[in-house]
Amino acid sequence: MAPDKTTVDPWRSINPVRLIDTFIELVQINSPSFNEHEIGAWLIERLVALGLTVDSQNYGASFNLTGRMAGTVRAVEPVMLSCHMDTVESTKGLKLIREGGIIKTDGGTILGADDKSGIAEILEALHVLKEQDLPHGDIEVVFTSAEERGLVGAKNLNFGSLKSRIALVLDCSGSIGRVVLAAPTHDSYVMRITGRAAHAGIEPERGTSAIKAAAKIISEVPDGRIDPNTTANIGIIHGGTATNIVPKEVTLEGEIRSHDADSLERTKTVIFDTARRLAKKNQVKLQIEENRQYHGFHIGEADEFVRLIKDVCEDLSITPEFIVYGGGSDANIYNSHGIKSLVISSGMQMPHTTDEFIKEEDLSKAALILLGVLRAMAFDSKV
Ligand SMILES: [Zn+2]
Repeated sequence: MAPDKTTVDPWRSINPVRLIDTFIELVQINSPSFNEHEIGAWLIERLVALGLTVDSQNYGASFNLTGRMAGTVRAVEPVMLSCHMDTVESTKGLKLIREGGIIKTDGGTILGADDKSGIAEILEALHVLKEQDLPHGDIEVVFTSAEERGLVGAKNLNFGSLKSRIALVLDCSGSIGRVVLAAPTHDSYVMRITGRAAHAGIEPERGTSAIKAAAKIISEVPDGRIDPNTTANIGIIHGGTATNIVPKEVTLEGEIRSHDADSLERTKTVIFDTARRLAKKNQVKLQIEENRQYHGFHIGEADEFVRLIKDVCEDLSITPEFIVYGGGSDANIYNSHGIKSLVISSGMQMPHTTDEFIKEEDLSKAALILLGVLRAMAFDSKV
């Protein structure tokens, strides 16, 4: 039975056809990392039409977009909604397939629902606010670039331009209602191993193989799941120039992630000390360069913002699912800048693969969650 028009809750009056159309338009714009100009121009047009003040912030390699929708009610906390504009790889030649309530590609490219589903959902929520003239506080939107290349856009964001102290980042896969409460700290490192080159056929005795030393280091440093909170991996190796040369140089690139600061430091110390000891034993020079990719965060289930989202989900008959995540997102950067940021599912499934898909109804559900949060923020300034 069709609902009586006069009783439809304006806070739930999203337009699924418009939302799906927006999503389809978005995925047809190719936007691999550092190539966000076309999607950026498209977004500026949409945001301006919705009445937002838009700022495009260049940072050299690309740019971030921020937008502000001024509140219509006072004494509420501003809230920030964020997604990344880039896709993990090109979607050039994308062929869309819609069947059985699912949107996917023909398998030739990724879909790019990561993170365009979230962008479409944010736009729909803003559209409903404007269309229904609903009361709301200040809303800030942030669309970053090159998230997939190590949160590059977020790291270059002008935080001074933002007022919000809480944010929702729509950049998690899986069922709607999923909320990421914790993500690890991520350190990466490069080890440069230098031995001594020599002709391998004429005077191998004069050489010291950097590859051999690297092999010993790789086989002895701890990796995989170190403990329940910590993982480590060496993922890239480069070295050697020819089979007739005792190899002089090898570089190893690795990472350590942990939800526990002490365990992270302990693991790093073991890895670096082991490598230094083996370098010395094998008479090669070792130089280690480390980089903090991002800080982890942990937000408790008792947190007011978390409870607010839980209530919003339950009100929509969506089961909230709180998870600890092993990967990073823009939320790591936002949290380390004092903006309490939760990552929620946009409904994308199997991102970073050509099997990526989204259920049409999940686009709508995520937009309803956003509206529910904006509604709660407009009437509850306790968060
Ligand atoms: Zn993403």
